[in-house]
Amino acid sequence: MSELFSDRIKRARTAIKNAEKLIIGAGAGFSAAAGIEYDGNRFIKNFKPFIEKYGMKDLYTSSFYPFRTQEEKWAYWARHISLNLFETPVKKLYITLMELTSSKDYFVITTNVEGQFTKAGVEKSRFFEVQGNYGYLQCEKACHDRLYSDEKIVEQMLSETIDCGIPPSLVPKCHVCGGNMEVNLRKDNFFVQDSNWYISESNYRKFISGSEGKSSVFLELGVGYNTPGIIRFPFEAMVRNNPKATLIRLNRDHTKGISENTESTISFNEDMTTIISDIKKY
Ligand SMILES: [Zn+2]
Repeated sequence: MSELFSDRIKRARTAIKNAEKLIIGAGAGFSAAAGIEYDGNRFIKNFKPFIEKYGMKDLYTSSFYPFRTQEEKWAYWARHISLNLFETPVKKLYITLMELTSSKDYFVITTNVEGQFTKAGVEKSRFFEVQGNYGYLQCEKACHDRLYSDEKIVEQMLSETIDCGIPPSLVPKCHVCGGNMEVNLRKDNFFVQDSNWYISESNYRKFISGSEGKSSVFLELGVGYNTPGIIRFPFEAMVRNNPKATLIRLNRDHTKGISENTESTISFNEDMTTIISDIKKY
């Protein structure tokens, strides 16, 4: 990144201005930059009793905590879901990003699960939320592929939590098999992909095939190496295969990509809010 910041901004602006297709891929780093942090003060402030009881370190690793009972598990998850989804208003960075798409033929793919794109007004037919969403529950063993909105039950769980536990009567059960429920987040092979998921996936595939051979910009935002097979690696491959494509990569820690794309990549490790506000002025 020896090229000047202002020159990279200029190149990114030109690429977006000329883009026939704009494909946005957003990962955890984008939500963190927007202010949805999974560790630090935000976590400590909101999870004090859980940190004291279980020694939890941050919101990401605590998601894998092996709770002994369903009452304890749902007391934790109600707090987690409520904080990251229901109590967090739409973030400025998401709004700024959506403004960038306003006159563009765009599509958004994300591994983020906090529902921020929906809050920021993304069009449903131009959006693929691959890894789930905090707002839905599913059967833990995926015995059927329906999702259930959790807003009401989460509110109830929160108000009735005592000593990091909810009353047994509030523990959600599967209507079909009678088993336990789970938040609709991909963490094992039982993740439920409902009919909406498949529609979004198909819309994404169609958009991608429509971008082949065209002036396409792949705008990759905060995508690290947790699940690089969903956004990062496919974006690199599509840019490599399309001489008219540009990859714009915003990443604090991992800007380096494959050598074949050096010429067609514009990388930034600077502040995302500044960059997106700047390139928006194309
Ligand atoms: Zn079931």
